[in-house]
Amino acid sequence: MSKYKLPNKPFEYQNFVNGEYINSLSNETFERKSPAHGNLIGTYQLSNKQDTEHAISVAKKAFKSNAWSEMAGSDREKIIRKAASIIRERAQELALIETLESGKPISQALDEMEWAAGIWEYAATLSRHITGDVNTNVGKDMTAMMQKVPIGVVAMITPWNFPLLIISQKLPIALAAGCTAVIKPSEMTPGTTLLLGGILKEAGLPDGVVNILSGYGDPVGMTLSESNNVDMITFTGSTAVGKHIMRAAATNLKKVELELGGKNPQIIFPDANIDELIDPVVFGIYFNMGECCNSGSRIIIHKDIVDEFIEKLVAHAKKVKVGDPLDTTVKMGAIINDVQYDKIIGYIKSGIKQGATLQLGGTSSKTEKGAFIDPTIFSDVTPEMAIACEEIFGPVLSILTFDTADEALEIANNTEFGLSASVWTKDIDTAMIMTRNIEAGTVWVNNWMSGYPEIPFGGMKQSGIGRELGPRAIDEFMETKSVLIKTGKSSNWV
Ligand code: NAP
Ligand code: MG
Repeated sequence: MSKYKLPNKPFEYQNFVNGEYINSLSNETFERKSPAHGNLIGTYQLSNKQDTEHAISVAKKAFKSNAWSEMAGSDREKIIRKAASIIRERAQELALIETLESGKPISQALDEMEWAAGIWEYAATLSRHITGDVNTNVGKDMTAMMQKVPIGVVAMITPWNFPLLIISQKLPIALAAGCTAVIKPSEMTPGTTLLLGGILKEAGLPDGVVNILSGYGDPVGMTLSESNNVDMITFTGSTAVGKHIMRAAATNLKKVELELGGKNPQIIFPDANIDELIDPVVFGIYFNMGECCNSGSRIIIHKDIVDEFIEKLVAHAKKVKVGDPLDTTVKMGAIINDVQYDKIIGYIKSGIKQGATLQLGGTSSKTEKGAFIDPTIFSDVTPEMAIACEEIFGPVLSILTFDTADEALEIANNTEFGLSASVWTKDIDTAMIMTRNIEAGTVWVNNWMSGYPEIPFGGMKQSGIGRELGPRAIDEFMETKSVLIKTGKSSNWV
């Protein structure tokens, strides 16, 4: 059982600007209650447009000073690596904050701190691998150097489902590139991102390089998106807000990188080993209560094996423990807030109304102390139903069936999203044909949701623009500057 306890009093947070923790200009704050317990667990600065513009000007000044961008990569490495080690040392404290703010299970939150630290370590190494190209093949007297230069001030806007993990897919890579940053975490889960400021200061980061503000999408996120002094915006969140940000970014044509939603298919062929895939399927849909961009929410399975699959799936999903996320044995905690709870319940009702068969769950409990939804499974789902094509962001699995591989592919690709997908088969030909034709940024074969700092991640179609992670992630935060050097005498134009 749990050794984790609710804190006696709420944590008080401040913005982190120019190397210092400060109040918002208005001195106003907002609060967060634990979605699993109802207790007040944090107060945060309510930042406005002026706070945001100030933070942007600090980041711009820090970038112009070149103190960070012209530091040797090996010195940037030391600072980024030190931050990773502090994240590891403080993992218990950080995980507890994330569980209290988001409702996610504490044992999962601890794993996420480990993943996050691993990305900081990987990014530290990347800071020593920034090299351009030289071309001496364009003529006798010409040498061209393609230099890699940091893009400048990067705004980062993150969602509530994996707070420290998602900022860790952006910030350390941008820092390795030599950029400066202004960060706005979700209003629901700002705690650990705000603490990163102190962690980075302790690690030796120069003042002004990273600035962190708590506040709402409007005005903080909007001010960042529209600013003429921001050179790039990297956003993770919903497709709707992503489109809004892209339009706002047109003011100064800042570079836009987007990691958005998904309705991710898992195609299961008759030759797959059902006993081996049941647990990964259950993990794929109920991990983080289904509040996951990578949720494996659409099963597309061959008609011949669907009955056996449902029987085994339901039996296994029943074992998923739902409850107090501070209990280390719990696998599913609370839903993030009432809006999300109502949205998920609405989809469960629509599944029933549109004629899908409820195989498990559909049940929930909502009290003063929190909102929980049990693992839910629908079969007899057809492609036009809302639960087959819209992102639910909750613990609701939809099972569709197919006859032929072409039909499976058509169902899988019949969506505006293209984030991730999987194929379950022991046949190499089937696996290769599917991986070539599924429209998704990541395709897993006989597994779900494996990921590594070394491997790029991002979406096709309306699931996003650009890629995070991997050895080239650093290029997303850099411009290529071509320098052409003439030697010898030029021939005359006139
Ligand atoms: P969201 O509503 O899009 O919010 C994401 C962030 O954008 C929050 O910090 C939010 O601020 C801010 N924001 C809201 N309106 C804004 C505006 N007009 N201008 C600028 N910023 C604005 O998403 P969410 O509800 O937090 O997260 C769920 C969504 O994220 C899902 O659709 C999921 O698929 C997607 N997601 C994608 C990935 C991925 O890597 N592909 C990962 C995780 C989540 P406030 O909340 O403070 O208002
Ligand atoms: Mg939102």
